Amino acid sequence: MKKHIASCSFGKDSLAAIIVGLENNEPMDGAYYCEVMFNQWISGEVPEHRNFIYETAIPFLEKAGVKVDVVRGKKTFVDLFQHKIAGDGDWAGCIWSWPLCSRCYVQRDCKTRPLEAYKKQQWSGLEVAQYIGYASDEQVRLAKLDGTKKISLLDKYGITEDDATRICESYGLLSPIYEFAPRNGCWFCPNAKEPELLHLRKYHPHLFEDLLKLQALPCKATEKFNRDMTLYELDRHLRSLEDDLKKRGSRI
Ligand code: SF4
Repeated sequence: MKKHIASCSFGKDSLAAIIVGLENNEPMDGAYYCEVMFNQWISGEVPEHRNFIYETAIPFLEKAGVKVDVVRGKKTFVDLFQHKIAGDGDWAGCIWSWPLCSRCYVQRDCKTRPLEAYKKQQWSGLEVAQYIGYASDEQVRLAKLDGTKKISLLDKYGITEDDATRICESYGLLSPIYEFAPRNGCWFCPNAKEPELLHLRKYHPHLFEDLLKLQALPCKATEKFNRDMTLYELDRHLRSLEDDLKKRGSRI
């Protein structure tokens, strides 16, 4: 028999898709979530989002009868950061260091590959339709679902991204991450915007310190944390932004 399984990052869209499915009695055989790990002990999720996932969202779904599988890869961000480049090319002997904004090794090795292995193991011999959290106003992403076994319940019920926010709010299931970030992603993401980085530096200084320790490692393939700056430069930039905000009486 065909199974219907939701992919969930616990962002507003994927969570709203599950809620809409439950409200409309759509078949729902479970959900899966992939957690990137910074190292063996520390999650790659922004702490507020991770707490929301484990303390609020998963208990809510499981109470509603939706079992959530948590998928983690064997490799962590720190493992990949310290991966030594083999061969005799220009970068041989250096470590991979910071992921590239456009070709993130974390996405490939901590998400895509572990999820492929999970699906191969769990879904072997089954016919599975996957629910994906694409909203009805995300036409470019929706077009990519044509010809796949992926289904957008948000599109089916005409739910836009703003509607998804309202639906999550109405269930007390809007992640606190949206108070300081437009999306949920790893706290060490090279695509993170200034408000996310300011938040990390101010409210989770131990995590920012962990990144500074990585920046201090020798022989890195790239010194730049993101497209523009090393983490030292970013640290100085964030400090001056924070000082400016304080002078203007604004809160981070
Ligand atoms: S959120 Fe950023 S660091 Fe994490 S997998 Fe995506 S692109 Fe990579």
